[in-house]
Amino acid sequence: SQRTLVLLKPDTVKRGLVGEVLSRFEAKGLTIVAMEHRLIDGSKADEHYVEHVERDFYPPLRAFVTSGPLVALLLEGDEAIEVVRAINGATDGRKAAPGTIRGDLSLSNRENLVHGSDSPESAEREIAIWFPQH
Ligand code: ATP
Repeated sequence: SQRTLVLLKPDTVKRGLVGEVLSRFEAKGLTIVAMEHRLIDGSKADEHYVEHVERDFYPPLRAFVTSGPLVALLLEGDEAIEVVRAINGATDGRKAAPGTIRGDLSLSNRENLVHGSDSPESAEREIAIWFPQH
């Protein structure tokens, strides 16, 4: 079994889609190990997105992820990292396949509802940031 860090970004909360998105992970069979609803500041965003802070798209991404509360999730299951990324779909909601969270519910490259760790190393780093007690 494997653990992964998922964020339901502020657009998910603002659009009232937390239940819809959580349902998909639960229905798949992933276990919610920890869950927290919180508003983050810019320094927390920088810590999470350390690989992106120098990118052109980062300033608006930083503004977006600090614009309202999000929900952080620690999910567990067999091959959870890859499974979550498949459920999330491609980064750009306009191109993500129907059947995925982004493909069904997002029409944006930035406001794409969810984040999922992209490797075991990222998952370990991100879980330490969001759920240090785990
Ligand atoms: P995540 O890491 O959030 O699961 P991802 O791995 O599909 O998404 P990354 O390339 O790591 O995407 O980018 C992180 C986030 O930055 C994206 O989820 C999206 O919100 C935003 N982003 C990425 N590329 C762009 C872009 N070209 N324009 C605007 N926002 C972008």
